Formats: sequence, structure tokens, C-alpha cells
Amino acid sequence: MMISYDKQLIKTDVEIKKMQEAGRVNALVLKEIKSMIKPGITTKELDIVAESIIRDHGGIPTFKGYPGPYPYPATLTISINEEMVHGIPSGRVLKEGDIVSVDCGTTLDGYIGDSAFTKGVGEIGKEKSRLIQVTEESLYKGIEYMRPGNHIGDVSAAIQEHVESHGYHVPRKYTGHGVGRKMHEPPQVPNFGVPGQGILLQVGMTIAIEPMVLVGTPKTKVLSDQWTVISADRSLTAHYEHTVAVTANSPLILTRVREN
Ligand code: MG
Ligand code: MG
Repeated sequence: MMISYDKQLIKTDVEIKKMQEAGRVNALVLKEIKSMIKPGITTKELDIVAESIIRDHGGIPTFKGYPGPYPYPATLTISINEEMVHGIPSGRVLKEGDIVSVDCGTTLDGYIGDSAFTKGVGEIGKEKSRLIQVTEESLYKGIEYMRPGNHIGDVSAAIQEHVESHGYHVPRKYTGHGVGRKMHEPPQVPNFGVPGQGILLQVGMTIAIEPMVLVGTPKTKVLSDQWTVISADRSLTAHYEHTVAVTANSPLILTRVREN
């Protein structure tokens, strides 16, 4: 049986090249921000640098002005410790032992790259390092299933299985997503699922895979700033993300500094 896909789900090779260019600039930003994460720097300082790198490359910060409870006010989301995603850069100073999740989106020539990482500030010890490592590993476990003929549920289940086998949790409310001309396109890609379920992956789909991991429980809540999402029990959290294209061959990670 032929399955027809909504046009917005499938990108041409030309579109994927454009997304790869946006993703490359986005990766340059995250590389620079990663190198700046040290005790004593404020999250606002990081945000200013991120915006200038994007604009120097002719891009637009995708998150800035993004619709929500009010337009998102910054280039990065910077989420510290129990903050899982959508933390707003501010005068807050990073401290030794914090773990910091940085998410960035770059729009270039109309196409978007969306990616995130978590890094410790100074010395963080084994438990926090393990949380970060398992979260990063789960991203690559999910990406491995981004192949034609697999289903979204295969990607989701691979992430969930890896995270939960280490005693951690994935949120139910926040998911990965299709990405392209818009930051959030169908399909949703939960970090939990059942192998073989969900839509079939097809060459030309571009998806932001983004495991979010909580130490305590899957439950989250939103702070009074209406953007910042924290773990409900205030346990530690981590977040990794890449924008990935399904190709006839291996999954193609678009948010990298160098083409692969
Ligand atoms: Mg993101
Ligand atoms: Mg995303």
C-alpha cells in the first residue's frame, strides 16, 4: 500500500542542504558557548555571544520572539540543574558544580537547525557526569533508528529504554519534533514509545531528536516566568538534541560543525 505524506514532512535534497548550512552555523554557536561555560559567567553573557555569532553568519536566532505565554526573549534557552528546558538567560551566575543545558535554534535562508547539549560547570562529580553521559548516549541510540522503514516508535523506544535502564526518567509532556521551515512541524517524537508504532520514517524527513532526562520522576512543572520547565521534584535534569535527516543510507546529523 502506498502511504502518502504531507508535503511538509518531506524535504528535497536542496532543502536538506540548506538545513545542513543552518545546522552548521548553529553548531558553531554551541561549540563556542560550550567553551565559555565556566564558573563566574552569566547566562546573559552567553546569550549575547550566541546572537552575535548567528547574525555574523547572516542568520536569525530562531527562538527570539517565538510565540508562547509571551514572545521568547532570547537567543538561547539555558536551563540549570533542575531546570530541564526553556530557561531564560539572565544575570544568573554559573557556579562550580552546576549542570547547564543549552539549546539553540538558527534560521538561515529560511531553514532551521535546532540542537542542544548539557555540560557541567567546573568539577561536577560522578553522578552528574553519568546523567549527562546517559542523556547524550540516548540521543545517539534514537538517531540510530532514523532510517527508512522504521517507525517513530522505534526511535522513541530506543531513547526510553536506554534512559530507564539507568534508573532515570523521560518527560511525557515534552517531545522531539519535525523541523524545517518551521521550528515545530509534525511529527511529534516522544522520548517514550513502542517499537513499530507511530508513523513510518521516509527519506527526506527532518526531525529534531531531543531526549530530556530527569533523575527523580517523569513529572515536570513550569516556573512563574511561564517558560522555564523544571522537574516537579527539583531533581537534576539533562537535555541533548540534534536535527537529523532520514536518508537512503545512514541517518544524517544536520547540526554538526563539519559535514558528515
Ligand atoms: Mg532545541
Ligand atoms: Mg527542538
